[in-house]
Amino acid sequence: MAIESPKEECGVFGILNPQEQVAESIYLGLFALQHRGQESAGISTSDHLKISKKAGLGLIANVFDQFQMEDLKGDLGIGHTRYSTTGRDSEENSQPLIVSGINGEISFGHNGNVINSGELKESLEQFDITYSTTSDTEIIAYMYANALGNNWFERSNYCMRSIKGAYSLVFMTKDELIGVRDPLGIRPLCLGKMNDAWILASESSALAHIGAEFVREIENGETIVITKDGVESSIFSSKSKNHKMCIFEQIYFSRPDSIINGQLAYESRVRMGESLAEEHPIDADIVIGVPDSAIPAAIGYANKSGISYTEGLIRNRYVGRTFISPNQRLRELGVRTKFNVLKDVIKDKKIILVDDSIVRGTTTSRVIELLKDSGAAEIHMRVSSPPITSPCYFGVDMASTTELIANNFDNESIRKVIGADSLGFLSMENLLTSVNSEDNDYCRACFTGEYPIPIQLDFDKFHLEKIKEKK
Ligand code: SF4
Repeated sequence: MAIESPKEECGVFGILNPQEQVAESIYLGLFALQHRGQESAGISTSDHLKISKKAGLGLIANVFDQFQMEDLKGDLGIGHTRYSTTGRDSEENSQPLIVSGINGEISFGHNGNVINSGELKESLEQFDITYSTTSDTEIIAYMYANALGNNWFERSNYCMRSIKGAYSLVFMTKDELIGVRDPLGIRPLCLGKMNDAWILASESSALAHIGAEFVREIENGETIVITKDGVESSIFSSKSKNHKMCIFEQIYFSRPDSIINGQLAYESRVRMGESLAEEHPIDADIVIGVPDSAIPAAIGYANKSGISYTEGLIRNRYVGRTFISPNQRLRELGVRTKFNVLKDVIKDKKIILVDDSIVRGTTTSRVIELLKDSGAAEIHMRVSSPPITSPCYFGVDMASTTELIANNFDNESIRKVIGADSLGFLSMENLLTSVNSEDNDYCRACFTGEYPIPIQLDFDKFHLEKIKEKK
């Protein structure tokens, strides 16, 4: 968690394990992906006769108990943890979804955001579908359920020609597990193996969590079909031409122990901190990072600068999304409920405070105020990414353009607004070097405004509800 985080997207997980029931492995895998979405969670399984499903609002541990897991039978299954990037966080929008079409019944999980869902919905009109959700996922699910083609590779290529945006998919029939990564490869998806079992997951850390080996990342434009006979794959477009992985997966979203675009996210973040120290050096007593996501960058800054790294902010781990609506007094406590300050450590110190991003700036200013109120002499803010100037249309809930502080102010004005004694952002050039970027292979549109595909500027996450309300 950065001080003020863009909201993560979703986590997807799938497994076929001919040797055992898979519901518990999916449950554990979703735990490792909980950081990617905390609004709802769900699991579908198949015993090759029928697909069973349980999904609901809240954290994985809130949604499932022992008895419900026992109802989820079968050696094949998928799981999903959701943050709503389109559609409200209602129970009906919880995934996996189950839909039927000319290709039979499928259960479907999606990470990302499709930007032409209205168009896709029109293309499905001939099928007379009654939608039960307001998410773009249901539209893609029906696209796949009704796609032309003799097998899932042909159907997936058929869908990829029409769907625009970010989509890492994990879905299943009663007998097959299927993974798809969009032609730009914006969201991550990887393949793992454990004895006779094959696993698909948003992040490699989820594989390790169930004791599986990381095999490889799914390529952009790749469809992978897993059956009891093994794994088959087909690629729609070539990696070299189009790969546009979200660079924010490296900066913040993915767990530090996940491999993203061939790089361990932890090591990328340490390199960002080292580059930040070279780019924006300052004389100070200690370096502290905002827990947890900025800690690797803070360590990198300390290594390169020779200034000691220490903990100064302690995150209150279990304050997060709760079902309790805080009263006014608790709301006013704001960041004080999220972080405690180690006052004796920071008292009278000149501090380099490292965070991975600044979105609106409001919470950053409160943390700086908290540190100063607790006795810090100076706060030098260092950010391990460039200023965010544009919103994301590919599955990350940033803020609107007008809410982004870097869209409204230059660096000196931001420094004044947040109350720092100095401020430095990592340059794009050094960010790309830190992630060992080759051939312009990352989406970085929220920093540059240059989107890898044309976007509708009036898109918002509730647009499907608005279409529904107009009818
Ligand atoms: Fe990631 Fe930013 Fe591109 Fe969205 S716009 S996919 S957050 S790099």
